[in-house]
Amino acid sequence: MEEILLTKEPPTITTLLMKKVGKKMGLKDEVIREIINPQRIIIFKLSCSILGKFPIVWGCISLHNNAKGPYKGGIRLAEDVDIWETVELSRLMTLKTAISDIEFGGGKTGIRVNWKELYKTFRKKPLDRKFEKIVKMDIITSYAHLFRDLFISHTYIPAPDMGTGPDEMTFIYNETLDPASVTGKPEGIHGWLPGRKESTGYGCAFITKKVAKDILKTRLENLKVAIQGFGNVGQPLALYLFESGIKIIGITDLYGGVYDVDGLNIPRLITHAVKNGTVRGFKEAKHITNEDLFKLDVDILIPAACSHVIDKNNASKIRAKLIVEAANMPITPEGMEILKRRKIKVIPGILANSGGVIASMEEYASSLSAIKMEKEKVFKIIESKIGNNMELITQISEKEKVDYVESAVMIAMDRVYKAMLHRKFLGEVRG
Ligand code: NAD
Repeated sequence: MEEILLTKEPPTITTLLMKKVGKKMGLKDEVIREIINPQRIIIFKLSCSILGKFPIVWGCISLHNNAKGPYKGGIRLAEDVDIWETVELSRLMTLKTAISDIEFGGGKTGIRVNWKELYKTFRKKPLDRKFEKIVKMDIITSYAHLFRDLFISHTYIPAPDMGTGPDEMTFIYNETLDPASVTGKPEGIHGWLPGRKESTGYGCAFITKKVAKDILKTRLENLKVAIQGFGNVGQPLALYLFESGIKIIGITDLYGGVYDVDGLNIPRLITHAVKNGTVRGFKEAKHITNEDLFKLDVDILIPAACSHVIDKNNASKIRAKLIVEAANMPITPEGMEILKRRKIKVIPGILANSGGVIASMEEYASSLSAIKMEKEKVFKIIESKIGNNMELITQISEKEKVDYVESAVMIAMDRVYKAMLHRKFLGEVRG
């Protein structure tokens, strides 16, 4: 941890893009820097009690930008979390809430959990779902206790991300007893929102169908899709695509993958994955590796797992015509360059996975007002926001002759810049 504090943030795909776009907007370097840099980073160590032992767990909260509203962003619990990744994810949240035009800013929490060490310490067999739930409960309870004030003041409003879900949000609510202090709460908990759990996947499925029709000009029944990741996002995404008659021929997760050229049976695969914690071992399909998933002959490839999975080594082997970024920053800068050269279009994550934060806005509003919204209405709002934002991204991309990713950053950055200017966050410096 100490070592990383002495390092400079490595260039990321977002910082590179923001610098390029900022210049196009005519902003001064110091203004661009102010928009790129986080406003505050909190690094913490939790000493939490897990089954009578006290392992130290390390984490970080990046409060990136609150010019447009409270810092908003999920809690990532994973083995490879680091500060710069958390900062980049919080920056993406600022851009995501801005492109969605909702009253939030951007933040993120990363908590590093060394699962291998924990399994060794507690002498457990791998993939023990009950054990992992207990560990997560203890970590999140301890985290919620430490940052209670940040949540009840609505300074930072967390939500689920990789490694956390509705259950973990309950532990935050248990600590704050404030329904508006956290979103992504499960059914029945004060302030929960029907449809929030499936919202990110629903939004991704919606944009996938829209771009298949508008950009690829392909009928849904002829579309072939591959998905990496089968968690909070991947499962509902696959289900909604399946229900629209789309063939999903390959799905992988951290432990392996499954493949069926005629299309996987998603409801049965979900039952299998929920029971076993992985898609691996699903008897109705062949095995496929993560590496081979990217080489499948599909129309659309959807990374819905972790960061940086498409890079200079595999971007040239991708056969899909279009990539929908369900995950946050799944493509490295080098990978993106190769895709660009190969004319493979990319639908940016800040738009494609914005269904979750759009639903979070509704959950926050209904938590404050106690007025409950139906799932269908929530989904309609997601469709309308993502649909309109894609139209705007397309317009700007054509006008400015840039790709969809750059166009989305351009729109979002302009909104953040204007809000920062109005709130005097840029001091006397003017663009
Ligand atoms: P999750 O933990 O519920 O599921 C992650 C899935 O990816 C699991 O199936 C896991 O096995 C798989 N996976 C993890 N590492 C992998 C690897 N190295 N190779 C292959 N598969 C791997 O996470 P999630 O909440 O579904 O989030 C997935 C992505 O979507 C993340 O990038 C996250 O930041 C982004 N996202 C999530 C939400 C949300 O509402 N949960 C919202 C916006 C964006």
